[in-house]
Amino acid sequence: MAASTFANTSHIFPRHTQVIPPRAARGDGCYILDKDGKQYFDGSGGAAVSCLGHSDPDVIAAVQDQTATLAYAHTSFFSSDPAEELADLLINHAPKGLDRVYFVSGGSEAMESALKLARQYFTEIGQPQRRHVIARRQSYHGNTLGVLSVGGNMWRREQFAPLLIETTHISPCYEYRGRAEGESAFDYGQRVANELEAEIQRLGPDTVMAFVAEPVVGATAGAVPPVEGYFKRVREICDQHGVLLILDEVMCGMGRTGTLFACEQEGVAPDITAIAKGLGAGYQPIGAMLCTKQIYQAIEEGTGFFQHGHTYLGHPVAAAASRAVLRKLTEGGLVKRAAVMGETLNTALQERFGQHPHIGDIRGRGLFRGLELVADRASKAPFAPDLALPKKIKAAAFEAGLLCYPMGGTIDGKTGAHILLAPPFIMTEDQIGEVVDKLDIALRAALPG
Ligand code: PMP
Repeated sequence: MAASTFANTSHIFPRHTQVIPPRAARGDGCYILDKDGKQYFDGSGGAAVSCLGHSDPDVIAAVQDQTATLAYAHTSFFSSDPAEELADLLINHAPKGLDRVYFVSGGSEAMESALKLARQYFTEIGQPQRRHVIARRQSYHGNTLGVLSVGGNMWRREQFAPLLIETTHISPCYEYRGRAEGESAFDYGQRVANELEAEIQRLGPDTVMAFVAEPVVGATAGAVPPVEGYFKRVREICDQHGVLLILDEVMCGMGRTGTLFACEQEGVAPDITAIAKGLGAGYQPIGAMLCTKQIYQAIEEGTGFFQHGHTYLGHPVAAAASRAVLRKLTEGGLVKRAAVMGETLNTALQERFGQHPHIGDIRGRGLFRGLELVADRASKAPFAPDLALPKKIKAAAFEAGLLCYPMGGTIDGKTGAHILLAPPFIMTEDQIGEVVDKLDIALRAALPG
């Protein structure tokens, strides 16, 4: 008998906890139940994935029907109805200018595709010297080697250096820690956006391929939104220098922030964007990259095809699941619900934790909220990393029946800590109360003093 059938052994790695985790047995709405029947409220949607909760009958039916009809057909031979219709839906709702979709299996693949597309675009238009990427500190763009080079989470990068893509990092737009006393939010945004201009000048404008950023920063910083005007200035700088703007909406996209694409709230459209997570809502692994006509046309008129590809591009079952998800998000009104419930969640968090001695900032958009932990509110001093607070909070919340996503790295990629909440859009007001109560229990159990 295989050892993995015994509860105290497992052949699976990695493990995110010291002990072998309980086996998840069933999903029911906003809850996951383990094999002993214990119920956990999915306050982080896993990793901001499960936007529809866990037992959506329409998505389940879409997966079942498509599996029975056609499970797989390689895209070198066929397209498929679900993939075509999903692409149409995405383009109909996408920011202006984006009008081609490339389907992959997840977020890292979507971002890898974005970087390769940008690179091929510049070689096609006779500017092969443009290969430098500018990104931001406190960012995460995926774990494969290409996108890891671009991400600004130093802890994730350092073991794998030297990395593949020439990248330099500028400051994030992180008002809580970056805005100077007396400086307006707008001026702060312009100041940090202008770091992009300075970095382009330093590198030489004709060597820079792209600026890469998450519109609302997820895992590395805890739902940090930009200040007004920041992305408009970024767009202006990119346009001025012919640099592509690649927005990573893998975590913050698909309605999470209260609009289908987070960048809609900034009034800017990127040249390329990457989505995943909420796109399949956890029912299927799927990601996508969207790009402008200008980019794909250059490639069509040049080599003729994007020199890239994976076995599961446009997988029919994944696309069918995602088509059902997107219909619920848009026609079904769930994105609007995320915006409304997000405000309710924010109010409840502010009421309960707004004066908490160890919570310095509560922020975010829609149902994407972050709480930054501090040892001291006045000085904003972080807790010592060796206290391992994110781990302790996660364990205490788990014990209390709440899944939340506490992470370190808020301040410089290594120190600082935050808790990320990204619950399903179907959550009710009562469940907001449940999340806040359980989080309170977890913080009391895990925080010192
Ligand atoms: N970009 C961002 C902003 C993400 O949050 C993530 C996943 N946390 C990724 C890329 C990578 O996605 P995946 O884990 O699906 O490869």
